[in-house]
Amino acid sequence: MNADLERVIGLQRLDTASDAARKRLADEPEREKALDARLDAAKQRVTSSKERLAANQSARREIEKELAVHQGRLSKFREQAMAVKTNQEYHAIQHEIAHAQAQIKTHEDHMLDRMVDADDLAAAVKKAEADLAAEQKAIDADRKAMNAEHAELQAALERFTTERSAIVSALDKQLLAIFEQVSKKRHGVAVAEAKNGICTICHVRLRPQVFNTVRRNEDIVQCDSCQRILYFVSAPAAASPGSDASSPAAS
Ligand SMILES: [Zn+2]
Repeated sequence: MNADLERVIGLQRLDTASDAARKRLADEPEREKALDARLDAAKQRVTSSKERLAANQSARREIEKELAVHQGRLSKFREQAMAVKTNQEYHAIQHEIAHAQAQIKTHEDHMLDRMVDADDLAAAVKKAEADLAAEQKAIDADRKAMNAEHAELQAALERFTTERSAIVSALDKQLLAIFEQVSKKRHGVAVAEAKNGICTICHVRLRPQVFNTVRRNEDIVQCDSCQRILYFVSAPAAASPGSDASSPAAS
């Protein structure tokens, strides 16, 4: 292969890898925010489960107060019942007693319902707290991985820069100018593989003699349509089945 063609391919590989690394680094604040949101959501679930339990507890206190009132009235009516003089008074007081007893029964039923709910709500608080602890742990691990990746990306970028300058200093200046110009115009991709007679990036069919020249990888040939510098990857002599299972055997 033409040494300069090999260099621009290397240059493109480095630029593409650098772009990907920079994009990944640029995504970090967004990913950081997503981690914070996950933690906030887990904390919120604990808060709301505790609120529901607290609401249940205050409802139970209210019912207790009501119960005390009705129990007080019941004992008062029972005392009065001992002192009644007439049949009419007796019936009236019995009626009051029955009413108070019914009220007590209703409130006791409510209390029982609330107590059953309280067990579920307390279990929900425990679960939300356990979930929060697990989420916190997972988020810490994700953040640690992100920090490690950050350091790796930074180191890779430095390495790419060094490797790039080495290639640039060896590369033909005119070809470098073409590379930079096309790269700028074509979103950072100045080199394209030609395959089956077409430019694999802009998908334009190359003229047969152009493709033949590209196949030899000896000359610098630009795609007529996108101007990218073309190269050809010769198929491995004996394609081993399974090495590229996704594509059917070349015909
Ligand atoms: Zn093209």
